[in-house]
Amino acid sequence: MAAGVVAAFLGLGLALEQGLVGRAEPLSGMHLGAPTTTADGPTSTGPTGGGHQTTAPASATASTDAGPLRAPRIVADHLTFGATRKAETAAYAERHYGTRTWQLDPTMIVLHYTESDTYGSARSLFEADVPNRGERPGTCAHYVVDQDGTIYELVPPTVMCRHAIGLNQLAIGIEFVQSSNGHDSRWAVQQVLRRKAQAAAGVALVEDLQRRYAIKDGDVIGHAMVNEAKGFRDLQGWRNDHTDWQQPEVARFRSLLTTAP
Ligand SMILES: [Zn+2]
Repeated sequence: MAAGVVAAFLGLGLALEQGLVGRAEPLSGMHLGAPTTTADGPTSTGPTGGGHQTTAPASATASTDAGPLRAPRIVADHLTFGATRKAETAAYAERHYGTRTWQLDPTMIVLHYTESDTYGSARSLFEADVPNRGERPGTCAHYVVDQDGTIYELVPPTVMCRHAIGLNQLAIGIEFVQSSNGHDSRWAVQQVLRRKAQAAAGVALVEDLQRRYAIKDGDVIGHAMVNEAKGFRDLQGWRNDHTDWQQPEVARFRSLLTTAP
């Protein structure tokens, strides 16, 4: 299938319906719910293009009895998401969820890994907007957490992104840079959990999103758990066939969360 060809071309074997998402709300007023772009021109030159905006989420100034909340540093590296991709997303949402919208009011978080060794290769696939299962928009994810702990926001969390069949209408998608290198998907996720900088960044990102959108620990799930998740819905009868982030590793990830709304 086309996506497979592209994935192979990019050296990827993406373990997602699609892949990516996420970022902090209006970064310095740059966008409100959606990247501000003109036409469909690129909004970024990619990770090596320089000029990234680094912003702290709105919750950065919040505090609790436990003291000031940590706000993770998030690098805005938004995908091109102009009128064309928004229209493709709205049409996808209508076909699969019965609601014609490209906007997202997130209530869940789905964890993934990229099945690639670099952030750049994952970003390139998501940017390409190539059909997956014969349909556009291409796969994407809201956030990608690199192995050194850098968090990239590719799509604002208020914009729907195609990363998990049946839950794109509810969930933010987070990808961790990791390839399986011939091992199984549980091994791959365990590498992420053992890599302190990456795991800690992922936890900080998830906690921040939980605070901002009142997402419960139990609604932070793995891609492998999506078909059985509350809220799963696909009017075309599609199901996920991915095994990334199974229950034992998700349980371990949840145990690291301190938000517990
Ligand atoms: Zn996945």
